[in-house]
Amino acid sequence: MQQVIRKARAKINLGLDVVKRREDGYHEVKMIMQTVDLYDELTICKTEQPGIQITTNVGDIPVNEDNLIYKTAKLMLDKYSIQQGIAVHLKKVIPVAAGMAGGSTDAAATFTGLNQLFDLKIPDEELMKMAVKIGADVPYCIMGGTALSEGIGEILTPLPNPPQCHLVIAKPDIYVSTKYVYENLHANELKHHPDIDAMIESLRAKDLRKMSQQMENVLELVTASEYPIIEEIKDTMKKCGAWNALMSGSGPTVFGIFDREEDANKAKELIAQKKLAKQVFISAFSN
Ligand code: ATP
Repeated sequence: MQQVIRKARAKINLGLDVVKRREDGYHEVKMIMQTVDLYDELTICKTEQPGIQITTNVGDIPVNEDNLIYKTAKLMLDKYSIQQGIAVHLKKVIPVAAGMAGGSTDAAATFTGLNQLFDLKIPDEELMKMAVKIGADVPYCIMGGTALSEGIGEILTPLPNPPQCHLVIAKPDIYVSTKYVYENLHANELKHHPDIDAMIESLRAKDLRKMSQQMENVLELVTASEYPIIEEIKDTMKKCGAWNALMSGSGPTVFGIFDREEDANKAKELIAQKKLAKQVFISAFSN
């Protein structure tokens, strides 16, 4: 085999709680992760010369050793003493620095892609153990689907997939630093926490409407108070008929859950018309 093509799907957080800030500065989280059908595409080829080359269709991400694809490929090639080089073309669709795990899912696709390309036959569980070294969300991105994520994001429990719906995903044109958001949350002083366990019960009961109403993201306290556009997008989605809308991760991406396709389309149009976000997608849950 000379080439593999992998889809690297984005995630949203149906619920996100920060349980506490540990003494070592890390934050313990309790999040419901959900893969969505919005993806980057990685084409990975073997090359005669050793080394790792990355090309991409966008200008705002590094193509050197700072790219998570590079870090992952280096780890795999070194660990399995692979002499050949690789060339990766990344077709980026997932908004960058958006709270959708774009870099982490590219890393996950590199792990599984190289496993296939070099016929390494490494079980997913082993890939997931290696993946923590690249980033806390990378093991989840290898697993995909619906999952409870705890610890610093690396303790994963699969959950039942929610019933299908129509999603609108909108990334406003602002930059949010994940580090800043966590630092300004003051996690150990929070008076209220999202009820993630109640959300899990609704998922098990396949009651998407109830789960939607229970959705909360504690990081909105920081990001949404700083950037009013987040509430504006949420309100627009809800006025168009969304069961609920929420910010994903540390933001600034917002998603809305719609029962009716025409309402989702209407929300997408209105968000674009009001210039609330340049990147707006209609999507769906994925396994
Ligand atoms: P998360 O949801 O995990 O916080 P994110 O969506 O906020 O992730 P990314 O899209 O992963 O953020 O990008 C954050 C930064 O990581 C980018 O600004 C970029 O410099 C760097 N980066 C490294 N590799 C990649 C990659 N393959 N794709 C996108 N960004 C990358």
